[in-house]
Amino acid sequence: MAFGITSINGQKVRFGVGLRNDICSELSELGSEKALVLSTPQQVDMAMELATAIGDRASGLFTRATMHTPVDVTEEAVEHALSIQADSLVSIGGGSTIGLGKAIALRTGLPQIAIPTTYAGSEATPILGQTEGGVKKTLTDAKVLPRVILYDPELVATLPPAMTVTSALNAMAHAAEALYAKDRTDQTTELAVDGLKAFAEGFPNVVENPGDLKAREETQRGAWACGTVLGQVGMALHHKLCHTLGGSFNLPHAETHAIVLPHAIAYNAVGVPELLTPVSQILDGGEPGQALWDFAKKMGAPMALKDLGISEADLDRATEIALRNPYWNPRPITADGLRALLQNAWAGNAPG
Ligand code: NAD
Repeated sequence: MAFGITSINGQKVRFGVGLRNDICSELSELGSEKALVLSTPQQVDMAMELATAIGDRASGLFTRATMHTPVDVTEEAVEHALSIQADSLVSIGGGSTIGLGKAIALRTGLPQIAIPTTYAGSEATPILGQTEGGVKKTLTDAKVLPRVILYDPELVATLPPAMTVTSALNAMAHAAEALYAKDRTDQTTELAVDGLKAFAEGFPNVVENPGDLKAREETQRGAWACGTVLGQVGMALHHKLCHTLGGSFNLPHAETHAIVLPHAIAYNAVGVPELLTPVSQILDGGEPGQALWDFAKKMGAPMALKDLGISEADLDRATEIALRNPYWNPRPITADGLRALLQNAWAGNAPG
């Protein structure tokens, strides 16, 4: 597999058990003496443990990272960073915490070290989504790309089983859509295939034995490949639809991705079957959407949007919102086609 271990886009990427304890050498390489450690309220213990390992080089903690990176939280965090004269940011957590680090970096130029604890992949992209006044907007800026990523398998080993599964499918969604991206190259396709393979091979072992650190590391390599490819090509139906469902119906990010993915891929496989062949090959069989649905079911993923709290009556509105801002997709998106896709995803049916 063609995994870059040291540097891509100027980012230093390392994998290894216990790597979080190497944080001081990374900070000293950055010339940082006053690191601000970031986390969500749910991961304060991890953040405290990291701050203790950082010792004198840690100048503070900000533990209010929030899903969808609300601008008011970012402004508070920026104020805190300036008040303690932080000279670097260390984000330990999932996409929400890493998003906060990126949002502070955008406003202050501070260098970031990302220590991911989910498979979302935000650490590997120059993309930042921020929410203000209930609207989530996405930007791409090299300034938000963390300088260093430390993938420590022990940190994903603490992910609750349900989140392990949804987060992995969230990562696989980046790779699956990269396979048919309009701006794909041979190199992005190779990365996407590597990412999918890493999950297909490592993930069943992780589900069977959550503490298997070798399998965890393999899936983290998958998360890096999937995240990197997300930063390199444009996404289509799957990501746009999940954005609508998350933004307008407040559905949880990773779970929504996990449920919608087989349906979006089945829809697009009708238009570009040959580009999605790797999905069928890697998952050992069937149509690409069906293969993903079978894989998700076997791994214990949630299968129905109705279980996330969206009502059947909302599906017409979701279709209408999702059609409002047209975007490129490998197969034309029709109202009927989208409504049928949502119905199947809502009910937990196999893709149509
Ligand atoms: P998250 O960061 O919101 O985490 C969900 C919950 O799980 C939080 O409470 C968190 O503290 C907890 N958690 C995380 N890791 C844990 C662990 N190892 N053990 C125990 N608890 C843990 O979830 P996410 O799915 O990683 O990130 C979602 C956010 O990331 C969304 O806002 C999404 O838009 C964004 N995202 C951005 C990009 C990008 O490139 N900009 C890419 C992917 C996701």
